[in-house]
Amino acid sequence: MLLLIPGPVQTRPEVKAAMAQDIAPWDRDFQKVYARIRERVVGVAGGTPGVHATLPIQGAGHFVTEAALRTFVAPGAKVLIPMNGAYAQRMARLAREAGRIVVELPLTDTRGATAADIMPALEADPSIGTVAMVYNETGSGIVNDAQGIGRALHAAGKRLVLDAVSAFGALPFPLDDHPECDVLVFTSGKCLEGMPGVGFAVARIDRAEACAGNAGSWSLDLSDVLAHAKRSGWGSIRFTPPVQTIAAFDVALDLYEAEGGQASRLARYRTNTGILYDGIVALGLKPYLERDQQGPVIVTIHQPSDPRFDLLAFVEALKHRGVLISNFYNTQAPTMRIGAIGAITPEDMRRAVAAIGAALEDVLPKAA
Ligand SMILES: *Cc1c(COP(=O)(O)O)cnc(C)c1O
Repeated sequence: MLLLIPGPVQTRPEVKAAMAQDIAPWDRDFQKVYARIRERVVGVAGGTPGVHATLPIQGAGHFVTEAALRTFVAPGAKVLIPMNGAYAQRMARLAREAGRIVVELPLTDTRGATAADIMPALEADPSIGTVAMVYNETGSGIVNDAQGIGRALHAAGKRLVLDAVSAFGALPFPLDDHPECDVLVFTSGKCLEGMPGVGFAVARIDRAEACAGNAGSWSLDLSDVLAHAKRSGWGSIRFTPPVQTIAAFDVALDLYEAEGGQASRLARYRTNTGILYDGIVALGLKPYLERDQQGPVIVTIHQPSDPRFDLLAFVEALKHRGVLISNFYNTQAPTMRIGAIGAITPEDMRRAVAAIGAALEDVLPKAA
Protein backbone atom coordinates (compact mmCIF):
# COMPACT_ATOMS: atom_id res chain seq x y z
CA MET A 1 0.00 0.00 0.00
CA LEU A 2 1.20 3.47 -0.91
CA LEU A 3 0.30 5.80 1.96
CA LEU A 4 -0.33 9.31 0.59
CA ILE A 5 -1.34 11.19 3.71
CA PRO A 6 0.42 14.10 5.41
CA GLY A 7 1.31 12.04 8.47
CA PRO A 8 1.96 9.60 9.88
CA VAL A 9 3.78 9.12 6.60
CA GLN A 10 5.05 6.11 4.74
CA THR A 11 8.41 5.12 6.22
CA ARG A 12 11.44 3.22 4.98
CA PRO A 13 12.00 -0.43 6.02
CA GLU A 14 15.10 0.56 8.04
CA VAL A 15 12.98 2.90 10.18
CA LYS A 16 10.34 0.26 10.81
CA ALA A 17 13.02 -2.32 11.65
CA ALA A 18 14.53 -0.08 14.33
CA MET A 19 11.35 -0.47 16.37
CA ALA A 20 11.73 -4.23 16.76
CA GLN A 21 13.43 -4.13 20.17
CA ASP A 22 12.59 -3.72 23.86
CA ILE A 23 14.17 -0.67 25.48
CA ALA A 24 14.45 0.76 29.00
CA PRO A 25 14.22 4.58 28.86
CA TRP A 26 16.82 5.08 31.59
CA ASP A 27 19.32 2.60 30.11
CA ARG A 28 22.61 4.38 29.47
CA ASP A 29 22.80 3.16 25.87
CA PHE A 30 19.33 4.54 25.13
CA GLN A 31 20.13 7.80 26.91
CA LYS A 32 23.02 8.28 24.50
CA VAL A 33 20.67 7.85 21.54
CA TYR A 34 18.16 10.29 23.02
CA ALA A 35 20.78 12.94 23.79
CA ARG A 36 22.25 12.52 20.31
CA ILE A 37 18.84 13.03 18.70
CA ARG A 38 18.34 16.28 20.63
CA GLU A 39 21.69 17.55 19.36
CA ARG A 40 21.01 16.47 15.78
CA VAL A 41 17.62 18.19 15.81
CA VAL A 42 19.19 21.52 16.81
CA GLY A 43 21.43 21.07 13.77
CA VAL A 44 18.52 20.30 11.42
CA ALA A 45 16.77 23.42 12.82
CA GLY A 46 19.77 25.57 11.90
CA GLY A 47 20.22 26.54 15.54
CA THR A 48 23.24 26.76 17.83
CA PRO A 49 23.93 24.41 20.76
CA GLY A 50 23.88 26.50 23.93
CA VAL A 51 21.47 29.00 22.33
CA HIS A 52 18.79 26.55 21.21
CA ALA A 53 17.63 23.31 22.80
CA THR A 54 15.42 20.43 21.69
CA LEU A 55 12.57 19.99 24.19
CA PRO A 56 10.47 16.92 23.30
CA ILE A 57 6.97 16.17 24.53
CA GLN A 58 5.52 12.67 24.12
CA GLY A 59 2.38 12.31 22.06
CA ALA A 60 0.70 13.98 19.11
CA GLY A 61 1.62 17.32 17.62
CA HIS A 62 -1.24 19.08 19.39
CA PHE A 63 0.45 18.34 22.72
CA VAL A 64 3.73 20.02 21.84
CA THR A 65 1.90 22.92 20.17
CA GLU A 66 -0.11 23.44 23.34
CA ALA A 67 3.09 23.22 25.39
CA ALA A 68 4.71 25.88 23.17
CA LEU A 69 1.73 28.22 23.52
CA ARG A 70 1.48 27.69 27.28
CA THR A 71 5.19 28.21 27.83
CA PHE A 72 5.90 31.17 25.53
CA VAL A 73 2.65 33.13 25.78
CA ALA A 74 1.98 34.23 29.36
CA PRO A 75 -1.43 33.51 30.92
CA GLY A 76 -3.79 36.33 29.96
CA ALA A 77 -1.43 37.68 27.26
CA LYS A 78 -2.53 38.32 23.68
CA VAL A 79 -1.42 36.22 20.75
CA LEU A 80 -2.21 37.01 17.10
CA ILE A 81 -3.04 34.03 14.88
CA PRO A 82 -3.46 34.34 11.11
CA MET A 83 -6.55 32.23 10.44
CA ASN A 84 -6.21 30.64 7.04
CA GLY A 85 -6.77 26.97 7.63
CA ALA A 86 -7.76 24.06 9.80
CA TYR A 87 -4.51 23.90 11.75
CA ALA A 88 -4.63 27.64 12.49
CA GLN A 89 -8.06 27.03 14.00
CA ARG A 90 -6.64 24.23 16.12
CA MET A 91 -3.84 26.49 17.34
CA ALA A 92 -6.39 29.16 18.27
CA ARG A 93 -8.45 26.66 20.23
CA LEU A 94 -5.41 25.36 22.12
CA ALA A 95 -4.38 28.91 23.07
CA ARG A 96 -7.91 29.98 24.04
CA GLU A 97 -8.55 26.94 26.21
CA ALA A 98 -5.20 27.56 27.92
CA GLY A 99 -6.47 31.01 28.89
CA ARG A 100 -4.47 33.07 26.41
CA ILE A 101 -6.22 35.91 24.58
CA VAL A 102 -6.40 34.98 20.92
CA VAL A 103 -6.66 37.79 18.39
CA GLU A 104 -7.79 36.17 15.15
CA LEU A 105 -6.71 37.60 11.82
CA PRO A 106 -9.23 36.26 9.27
CA LEU A 107 -7.72 35.27 5.90
CA THR A 108 -8.78 32.97 3.06
CA ASP A 109 -7.55 29.36 3.05
CA THR A 110 -6.34 29.56 -0.56
CA ARG A 111 -3.42 31.97 -0.05
CA GLY A 112 -0.38 31.92 2.22
CA ALA A 113 -0.06 34.80 4.71
CA THR A 114 2.73 37.36 4.30
CA ALA A 115 4.16 40.12 6.48
CA ALA A 116 1.84 42.56 4.66
CA ASP A 117 -1.13 40.67 6.17
CA ILE A 118 0.29 40.46 9.68
CA MET A 119 1.97 43.75 10.44
CA PRO A 120 -1.07 46.08 10.17
CA ALA A 121 -2.87 43.94 12.76
CA LEU A 122 0.08 44.30 15.14
CA GLU A 123 0.26 48.06 14.53
CA ALA A 124 -3.44 48.35 15.27
CA ASP A 125 -2.99 46.70 18.68
CA PRO A 126 0.47 47.28 20.20
CA SER A 127 -0.47 45.18 23.24
CA ILE A 128 -0.04 42.01 21.14
CA GLY A 129 3.46 40.67 21.84
CA THR A 130 3.46 37.35 20.01
CA VAL A 131 2.35 35.90 16.70
CA ALA A 132 1.58 32.17 16.63
CA MET A 133 1.25 30.69 13.19
CA VAL A 134 1.32 27.58 11.06
CA TYR A 135 4.16 27.31 8.52
CA ASN A 136 2.71 24.75 6.12
CA GLU A 137 -1.09 24.66 6.41
CA THR A 138 -1.84 20.96 6.10
CA GLY A 139 -5.56 21.68 5.72
CA SER A 140 -5.21 23.08 2.19
CA GLY A 141 -1.55 22.93 1.12
CA ILE A 142 -0.72 26.65 1.28
CA VAL A 143 2.53 27.86 2.84
CA ASN A 144 2.64 30.94 5.04
CA ASP A 145 5.74 33.10 4.55
CA ALA A 146 7.24 32.24 7.92
CA GLN A 147 10.67 33.63 7.06
CA GLY A 148 9.37 36.99 5.78
CA ILE A 149 6.94 37.32 8.67
CA GLY A 150 9.69 36.37 11.11
CA ARG A 151 11.99 39.10 9.80
CA ALA A 152 9.20 41.69 10.07
CA LEU A 153 8.45 40.57 13.64
CA HIS A 154 12.12 40.85 14.53
CA ALA A 155 12.23 44.43 13.21
CA ALA A 156 9.09 45.26 15.22
CA GLY A 157 10.36 43.66 18.45
CA LYS A 158 7.63 40.95 18.48
CA ARG A 159 7.95 37.23 19.21
CA LEU A 160 7.06 34.19 17.10
CA VAL A 161 5.72 30.73 17.98
CA LEU A 162 5.85 28.56 14.86
CA ASP A 163 3.85 25.40 14.16
CA ALA A 164 6.23 23.81 11.68
CA VAL A 165 4.74 20.35 12.20
CA SER A 166 4.24 19.55 8.51
CA ALA A 167 7.13 21.76 7.32
CA PHE A 168 10.15 20.96 9.48
CA GLY A 169 12.88 19.12 7.63
CA ALA A 170 11.60 20.24 4.22
CA LEU A 171 10.76 23.96 4.31
CA PRO A 172 13.69 26.00 5.65
CA PHE A 173 13.51 28.10 8.80
CA PRO A 174 17.09 28.39 10.13
CA LEU A 175 16.75 29.40 13.78
CA ASP A 176 20.07 31.25 13.81
CA ASP A 177 18.55 33.68 11.26
CA HIS A 178 15.42 34.11 13.38
CA PRO A 179 16.12 35.43 16.88
CA GLU A 180 12.45 36.51 17.07
CA CYS A 181 11.42 32.84 17.14
CA ASP A 182 10.96 31.60 20.70
CA VAL A 183 10.08 28.10 19.58
CA LEU A 184 9.16 25.99 16.60
CA VAL A 185 7.44 22.64 16.90
CA PHE A 186 7.25 19.51 14.74
CA THR A 187 6.60 15.79 15.10
CA SER A 188 8.48 12.57 14.45
CA GLY A 189 6.03 11.29 11.82
CA LYS A 190 5.98 13.94 9.08
CA CYS A 191 8.78 15.36 6.89
CA LEU A 192 11.52 13.61 8.84
CA GLU A 193 9.77 10.35 7.98
CA GLY A 194 9.89 8.72 11.40
CA MET A 195 7.17 6.92 13.32
CA PRO A 196 4.47 8.93 15.13
CA GLY A 197 4.56 9.48 18.88
CA VAL A 198 6.91 12.35 19.75
CA GLY A 199 6.51 16.11 19.42
CA PHE A 200 9.66 18.19 19.31
CA ALA A 201 10.01 21.83 20.31
CA VAL A 202 13.21 23.61 19.38
CA ALA A 203 13.41 26.67 21.58
CA ARG A 204 15.67 29.51 22.61
CA ILE A 205 17.20 28.59 25.96
CA ASP A 206 17.14 32.20 27.23
CA ARG A 207 13.43 32.51 26.44
CA ALA A 208 12.53 29.09 27.86
CA GLU A 209 14.22 30.11 31.10
CA ALA A 210 12.60 33.54 31.16
CA CYS A 211 9.19 31.92 30.60
CA ALA A 212 9.43 29.51 33.56
CA GLY A 213 6.17 29.56 35.50
CA ASN A 214 3.93 30.43 32.54
CA ALA A 215 2.70 27.00 31.53
CA GLY A 216 0.19 26.26 34.30
CA SER A 217 0.68 22.57 33.47
CA TRP A 218 3.50 20.34 34.59
CA SER A 219 3.23 17.86 31.72
CA LEU A 220 3.06 20.60 29.05
CA ASP A 221 5.78 22.88 30.44
CA LEU A 222 8.75 23.30 28.08
CA SER A 223 10.63 25.36 30.67
CA ASP A 224 10.42 22.34 32.96
CA VAL A 225 11.63 20.02 30.17
CA LEU A 226 14.68 22.29 29.88
CA ALA A 227 15.23 22.52 33.63
CA HIS A 228 15.03 18.73 33.88
CA ALA A 229 17.61 18.29 31.11
CA LYS A 230 19.98 20.71 32.82
CA ARG A 231 19.52 18.93 36.14
CA SER A 232 19.48 15.29 35.04
CA GLY A 233 21.22 15.28 31.66
CA TRP A 234 20.14 15.59 28.02
CA GLY A 235 19.63 11.85 27.76
CA SER A 236 17.05 11.75 30.53
CA ILE A 237 13.35 12.25 30.02
CA ARG A 238 10.69 13.27 32.53
CA PHE A 239 7.97 10.70 31.81
CA THR A 240 7.87 7.35 30.00
CA PRO A 241 8.60 8.01 26.31
CA PRO A 242 7.66 5.97 23.21
CA VAL A 243 11.15 4.45 23.21
CA GLN A 244 10.75 2.52 19.95
CA THR A 245 9.65 5.65 18.11
CA ILE A 246 12.70 7.47 19.43
CA ALA A 247 15.02 4.65 18.37
CA ALA A 248 13.43 4.71 14.90
CA PHE A 249 13.77 8.49 14.72
CA ASP A 250 17.54 8.21 15.07
CA VAL A 251 17.55 5.99 11.97
CA ALA A 252 15.17 8.39 10.18
CA LEU A 253 17.72 11.16 10.84
CA ASP A 254 20.48 8.99 9.34
CA LEU A 255 18.40 8.54 6.18
CA TYR A 256 17.60 12.25 6.11
CA GLU A 257 21.29 13.11 6.17
CA ALA A 258 22.10 10.44 3.60
CA GLU A 259 19.50 11.92 1.25
CA GLY A 260 21.19 15.32 1.52
CA GLY A 261 19.14 17.00 4.23
CA GLN A 262 16.59 19.78 3.88
CA ALA A 263 17.30 20.91 0.30
CA SER A 264 17.14 17.38 -1.12
CA ARG A 265 14.03 16.46 0.81
CA LEU A 266 12.27 19.63 -0.29
CA ALA A 267 13.29 18.97 -3.90
CA ARG A 268 11.84 15.44 -3.79
CA TYR A 269 8.60 16.67 -2.24
CA ARG A 270 8.32 19.45 -4.83
CA THR A 271 8.82 16.90 -7.60
CA ASN A 272 6.14 14.70 -6.00
CA THR A 273 3.62 17.55 -5.69
CA GLY A 274 4.39 18.70 -9.26
CA ILE A 275 3.68 15.24 -10.68
CA LEU A 276 0.50 15.02 -8.63
CA TYR A 277 -0.71 18.52 -9.53
CA ASP A 278 -0.06 18.08 -13.27
CA GLY A 279 -1.48 14.56 -13.18
CA ILE A 280 -4.80 15.52 -11.64
CA VAL A 281 -5.18 18.47 -14.02
CA ALA A 282 -4.59 16.04 -16.91
CA LEU A 283 -7.34 13.81 -15.46
CA GLY A 284 -9.74 16.75 -15.71
CA LEU A 285 -9.84 17.45 -11.95
CA LYS A 286 -9.50 20.94 -10.47
CA PRO A 287 -6.86 21.64 -7.81
CA TYR A 288 -8.09 23.67 -4.82
CA LEU A 289 -5.08 26.00 -5.04
CA GLU A 290 -3.65 28.06 -7.87
CA ARG A 291 -0.27 26.73 -8.89
CA ASP A 292 1.64 29.67 -7.34
CA GLN A 293 0.07 28.90 -3.93
CA GLN A 294 0.67 25.16 -4.08
CA GLY A 295 3.11 24.06 -1.37
CA PRO A 296 5.26 20.91 -1.38
CA VAL A 297 3.44 18.83 1.26
CA ILE A 298 -0.16 18.18 0.34
CA VAL A 299 -2.33 18.72 -2.75
CA THR A 300 -6.05 19.30 -2.27
CA ILE A 301 -8.43 18.80 -5.18
CA HIS A 302 -12.03 19.85 -5.64
CA GLN A 303 -14.32 16.83 -5.53
CA PRO A 304 -15.87 16.12 -8.94
CA SER A 305 -19.22 17.89 -9.31
CA ASP A 306 -20.88 14.69 -10.60
CA PRO A 307 -23.68 13.98 -8.05
CA ARG A 308 -22.69 10.29 -8.05
CA PHE A 309 -19.32 11.15 -6.47
CA ASP A 310 -18.93 9.98 -2.89
CA LEU A 311 -15.59 10.60 -1.13
CA LEU A 312 -15.65 7.46 1.02
CA ALA A 313 -16.49 5.25 -1.96
CA PHE A 314 -13.68 6.87 -3.95
CA VAL A 315 -11.13 6.40 -1.13
CA GLU A 316 -12.09 2.72 -0.89
CA ALA A 317 -11.86 2.26 -4.68
CA LEU A 318 -8.43 3.88 -4.67
CA LYS A 319 -7.33 1.70 -1.75
CA HIS A 320 -8.26 -1.38 -3.80
CA ARG A 321 -5.80 -0.05 -6.35
CA GLY A 322 -3.02 0.20 -3.77
CA VAL A 323 -3.13 3.87 -2.74
CA LEU A 324 -4.51 5.21 0.54
CA ILE A 325 -5.52 8.89 0.87
CA SER A 326 -7.41 10.75 3.62
CA ASN A 327 -11.12 10.00 3.82
CA PHE A 328 -11.97 13.50 5.09
CA TYR A 329 -11.11 17.07 4.14
CA ASN A 330 -10.34 20.30 5.99
CA THR A 331 -10.92 23.00 3.36
CA GLN A 332 -13.82 25.44 3.10
CA ALA A 333 -15.09 23.69 -0.08
CA PRO A 334 -15.37 19.87 -0.44
CA THR A 335 -12.00 18.46 -1.52
CA MET A 336 -9.84 15.37 -1.55
CA ARG A 337 -6.47 15.65 0.18
CA ILE A 338 -3.42 13.80 -1.07
CA GLY A 339 -0.11 13.89 0.74
CA ALA A 340 3.18 14.12 -1.14
CA ILE A 341 5.53 13.58 1.82
CA GLY A 342 7.02 10.43 3.31
CA ALA A 343 9.21 7.78 1.76
CA ILE A 344 7.56 8.32 -1.64
CA THR A 345 9.45 8.53 -4.92
CA PRO A 346 8.41 10.39 -8.08
CA GLU A 347 7.83 6.96 -9.65
CA ASP A 348 5.41 6.13 -6.80
CA MET A 349 3.62 9.39 -7.53
CA ARG A 350 3.20 8.58 -11.22
CA ARG A 351 1.76 5.22 -10.22
CA ALA A 352 -0.60 6.99 -7.80
CA VAL A 353 -1.87 9.36 -10.52
CA ALA A 354 -2.68 6.39 -12.76
CA ALA A 355 -4.48 4.70 -9.85
CA ILE A 356 -6.48 7.89 -9.16
CA GLY A 357 -7.61 7.96 -12.80
CA ALA A 358 -8.65 4.32 -12.68
CA ALA A 359 -10.46 4.69 -9.33
CA LEU A 360 -12.37 7.68 -10.68
CA GLU A 361 -13.63 5.49 -13.51
CA ASP A 362 -14.56 2.83 -10.94
CA VAL A 363 -16.84 5.21 -9.04
CA LEU A 364 -17.97 7.37 -11.98
CA PRO A 365 -18.29 4.90 -14.89
CA LYS A 366 -18.82 6.55 -18.22
CA ALA A 367 -22.18 5.65 -19.77
CA ALA A 368 -21.63 2.71 -22.18
C1 LIG B 1 -0.03 17.22 11.75
C2 LIG B 1 -0.10 18.63 12.19
C3 LIG B 1 -0.23 18.98 13.54
C4 LIG B 1 -0.34 17.98 14.65
O1 LIG B 1 -1.26 16.98 14.46
P1 LIG B 1 -1.33 15.74 15.48
O2 LIG B 1 -2.46 14.94 14.91
O3 LIG B 1 -1.65 16.30 16.83
O4 LIG B 1 -0.01 15.07 15.45
C5 LIG B 1 -0.19 20.32 13.87
N1 LIG B 1 -0.04 21.26 12.94
C6 LIG B 1 0.08 20.97 11.64
C7 LIG B 1 0.27 22.07 10.65
C8 LIG B 1 0.06 19.64 11.22
O5 LIG B 1 0.19 19.34 9.92
